[in-house]
Parts: sequence; C-alpha cells; structure tokens
Amino acid sequence: MTESRPTVAIVIPVYNEESVLPELFARLEALFREHADCGWRVVFVNDGSRDRTSEMARAQGLLDPRFQLVELSRNFGFQSALAAGLAAARDADAAVTMDADLQDPPEVIPELVAAWRAGAEVVRAVRRSRQETGVRRAGFDLFHAVFGKLTDIPIESNTGTFGLLGRPALEAFAHLPERHRFFPGLRAWIGFATADVEYDRQERAAGAPKQTFRRLVRYAVDGFFSFSYLPLRFLTYTGIFVSGLGFALGLFFIVKRLLGIETASTGFTTLVSVVTFLGGIQLIGIGVLGEYLGRVYDEVKQRPIYLVKPPRR
Ligand code: UDP
Ligand code: MG
Repeated sequence: MTESRPTVAIVIPVYNEESVLPELFARLEALFREHADCGWRVVFVNDGSRDRTSEMARAQGLLDPRFQLVELSRNFGFQSALAAGLAAARDADAAVTMDADLQDPPEVIPELVAAWRAGAEVVRAVRRSRQETGVRRAGFDLFHAVFGKLTDIPIESNTGTFGLLGRPALEAFAHLPERHRFFPGLRAWIGFATADVEYDRQERAAGAPKQTFRRLVRYAVDGFFSFSYLPLRFLTYTGIFVSGLGFALGLFFIVKRLLGIETASTGFTTLVSVVTFLGGIQLIGIGVLGEYLGRVYDEVKQRPIYLVKPPRR
C-alpha cells in the first residue's frame, strides 16, 4: 500500500439505473474533491442494462477518467456483477462495495476508509436503521433472524453489501470460484480483522428496486444452502425419528398380539395417513437433495461467473 495516498476503488453494479446516475456522479465527485488523501476510482459494472445506463457511465468516464466501466455480456445478477467489479479492482489498495441507488450514502465511505487505515482488512457498514417497510422489511428481518441461527458461519445481521475490502481480502475473494455467491456470507467466511461502521440506510434515490422480490428470495435460499448443511442434517433427524416411531409401533402391535389383546382390524385411515406422511417426507427429502445436487451441478460445469462484453469497435 502506498502509505500516503492509497488507491481506493469503488465497485458499483448498475442495472437500469439511468434515473439515479446523475446524482450518484455528483455525490461521488463531491466526495473525491473533499477527500483528496485517497486516489479514488470508480468501477461501474453494467449488468446488462436496457436503458441509458451504459451511455451515461461511458460519458462520465470521458469527462473524468477515474470513472471506469466494465460491461457484462448480459444481465448476470447482482452477485455476479459484484464479482466482476471486485476482479477489476484487484490492483487497488482497497475496494468499496456499494449499490448504485444511494441507499448506501457515499458520504460514509471516508469512515470505511478510516477504519481500514486504522488496521481493519474488512470493513462492514452496519445499518443503524432501515427504510424498507412491509413485506420486504419482514422478509429481510426473517432472513437475518433465521440465517444467523442456521448457518455454520454467522453473518452480522443488518449488514449488506456496503463495506470495504483491503487488498488481501480482494485477493481472497478472487480465489473463491463458486457460482452461487452470497457476498455477506463469503465476506464472513474469509475472516481477517473486521471492523464495523454504523450508518443510516437511506431510501432509494430514484427509480424502482431492480432486485425483484423473487430474486431476493432466491438469494436468501442460496445463502442457506451455500452456508449450511442443516437441511440435510434435519432430514437425517427426521428419518431417525420416523423409523424410531415405526419400530415402536411394530413392537407395540407384536406385544399386543402376544398378550392376546384383540386388535380391531380397521385402520384404513391410519394406513392412508401414514403412507401419505411418509411419501411426503420422502419427497421433501428428494427436494432437499436436489437443491444441493443442482448446486453441485452448477459448480461442476465450471462456467465463468460472468462474461465481459468485448470493447466497442
Ligand atoms: N443490480 C444489478 N443487477 C441486477 C439487479 C440489481 O447489478 O440484476 C444492482 C442495482 O443496479 C443496484 C444494486 O444491484 O445498484 C441493488 O439493487 P436494488 O437497489 O434494486 O436492490 P435492493 O436495494 O432491494 O437490495
Ligand atoms: Mg436498493
């Protein structure tokens, strides 16, 4: 690290963000003006936008070469776009990761940098408050409550993407080849000295959220399956419990017969419920196995996480 003036790259995935870009440019420029003690760089990753995002980011880069643009060949999703940005920022001393929509205010970045300069390798921005309401909010809360309890690697609730990674952490990220990426989990997994900086999460500055609710659910499911064997373990326990129950029942009827206690030979309802119950458990089991198997399949295929568009001719 150049002790005096480190280079800090700000990695921002963008997908159809034309409505927030002007304000984002202005606020980043103000930040760079006020904090000349860092060599700033912005790495926009255009995740296959269909609006004017690409043109606007390119125009900004012509005005100010500190604004760089990586173009993906299509929409790969936020996690992949972030991976592309981190790869492009590997030569920086540190990389800030954030959303384009200004929910993560750029004004917090100097605090992240300060925590890093004070010795932390990984800095997480922790939300003091959240603006989301309704179903989305309930979903986030549920996710964080359950995730912490279920996974082998606890992640700090109230943290998202926003944060900073020092060079060693960036290197470590570059060596995580998995396709199903869940950034906060990976960040917890790599370890290193970690510091937290509190901030107030803002409302989206303009435009509609680009992560659909379905995507967020898939992302949450990904988080679970990538960081926990609990669903599998739970199956084993259920299996042990159900077979124990079956054994006890069998024993019960044998003893009853031996003692000559008359058993009424109805039991059709019982039979039907037991068979459907067991069938259900087996199907759930196959589903859970399938979740892992599908992920194994995705990893085995070894497809790249993203593809970068060739430069314009
Ligand atoms: N984003 C992206 N690819 C996508 C969807 C979203 O790069 O397929 C970007 C988006 O432009 C924004 C960030 O991911 O910079 C977070 O998206 P959003 O604000 O919609 O999500 P939320 O705030 O609900 O997490
Ligand atoms: Mg957002």
